[in-house]
Amino acid sequence: MPVIERMVESVESVIGIADVKRSRVRAIGIGSPGPLDPVNGVIIDTPNLPGWTNVPLAKLIEEKTGIPTFVENDVNAGTYGEFALGAGRGKRDVIGIFVGTGIGGGLICDGKLRSGFRHNAGELGHVVLMVDGPYCGCGKKGCLEALASRTAIVRDIRAGIAAGRKSIVPELMKERGRITSSVLSKAVEAGDALAVEVMAQAQYYLGVYVGSAVNFYDPEAVVLGGGVIEAMGEAFLEPIRKVARQYFISQQDADKVEIVAAKLGDYAGVLGAAMLGQERARAA
Ligand SMILES: [Zn+2]
Repeated sequence: MPVIERMVESVESVIGIADVKRSRVRAIGIGSPGPLDPVNGVIIDTPNLPGWTNVPLAKLIEEKTGIPTFVENDVNAGTYGEFALGAGRGKRDVIGIFVGTGIGGGLICDGKLRSGFRHNAGELGHVVLMVDGPYCGCGKKGCLEALASRTAIVRDIRAGIAAGRKSIVPELMKERGRITSSVLSKAVEAGDALAVEVMAQAQYYLGVYVGSAVNFYDPEAVVLGGGVIEAMGEAFLEPIRKVARQYFISQQDADKVEIVAAKLGDYAGVLGAAMLGQERARAA
């Protein structure tokens, strides 16, 4: 499998660049899209890599490198990275929500990644907010992902344009040929009515969701990451925060519940996977 060969090559090259003794490398941590089995390090299925069904990834990498290897869901790894080294540092209970093509998430419960009974905890994008809402990639209707992911935002902007709404989005997207997070950010900044309206709707759903999640979980921090949030920052977060707080059932110390942007960008998953690998190697 060429992907595995390339992964092994990357490991070897990173050890070289870091200039550490091989014997000092305690573990390899891998963040992968799921579904997967983190206990046995098996990728059960992954839509982006055809033919990857029941691949014992940890074992294969371990055999080739001689280094103990651990696999975790990529968004769980990202949440762990933000908890250990990023926006959730120093907290014990953290919810991570990553808004991209889909919406993924992770839960840190009392300083530990919550894996779940079947290792499926943290599928935050598939909590249903609108039972008769638009179809989600998972086949159900009205999941958060179907209402507030970039895919949902792009769908609604395209529908607006198709219905004859004026918008600068078609002009902005000429360069890359698609509606990227940066295109969305520029359109909102320029006050494009359609983009502002669609974004506000996504922010509203995210706000309702974060408020409900806080009622469910009472975390110290909710960390929001992913392309759209990275591109827009506070301008995207503030309306979410405002709506979320309106939905808190307990207003006591409401302002102490942090609703903040992720800090580590693309490194969250890599660092989180490495830290989880190290931790699991120690526990093994
Ligand atoms: Zn769904």
